[in-house]
Amino acid sequence: GRRADGSGVVVIGLGRFGSHLAGSLSRMNREVLVIDRNPDRVQRWSAQLDRVVQADSTEEGALRQLGVASFGRAVVAIGASVEASVLTVLALVELGLPQIWARATSQKHAKILSSVGAHHVIFPEAETGERVAHLIVSRLLDFIEFDDDFAIATVRVPESLVGRTVLELRPDDRYGVRVIGAKLPGERFQYASDSTELPRGGLLVVEGGIDQVQRFAGLR
Ligand code: ADP
Repeated sequence: GRRADGSGVVVIGLGRFGSHLAGSLSRMNREVLVIDRNPDRVQRWSAQLDRVVQADSTEEGALRQLGVASFGRAVVAIGASVEASVLTVLALVELGLPQIWARATSQKHAKILSSVGAHHVIFPEAETGERVAHLIVSRLLDFIEFDDDFAIATVRVPESLVGRTVLELRPDDRYGVRVIGAKLPGERFQYASDSTELPRGGLLVVEGGIDQVQRFAGLR
């Protein structure tokens, strides 16, 4: 049933991005309402997702009838049609959705989405491309960028540093980052201390400014 606590998410658009997003959210046990105007797509996904309905999301009245206003978050996953994406964001703004995430396919698209009231604009293709580039050329495995110039990353331990301790590495003086954990493949994460030795084939979890973390990982 629908929760009144606003933890549910409305996903609009069952393209490649939206369908993966909706699938991930429902595997995370979030209540998900999925909307698409294409009956074939609705039909195709309704076996795998809990609540998939056919509607034109640019119609505020249709969204209202579906109870969209009682959800805390909506993601507009429409990519190809800028018009449909912008009008959908407008309809959600009119409904007073507290958290509207919208997918942009270009900088201009992003600008319009923000100016009509989207709270978060995302660029899945650009972000995935960047992430994969990092994975391919660097020791960086995961890289999470937060606002305000802060990042957390997992970085492979370089062969040249195996057996040294965190104290010897002096990550703070030399790179301006902090090593917060170390991990061997298949083993549990351990919080790092000065005496933690860098394991062969292992991973470090580091935090700091975005440039600093990238420099530590050998990216700059
Ligand atoms: P992707 O690049 O992720 O495959 P698309 O932009 O091709 O994304 O897919 C967008 C989805 O959004 C399509 O399934 C389309 O039917 C749906 N869509 C487009 N306009 C509307 C609308 N006005 N209302 C509801 N769904 C829409």
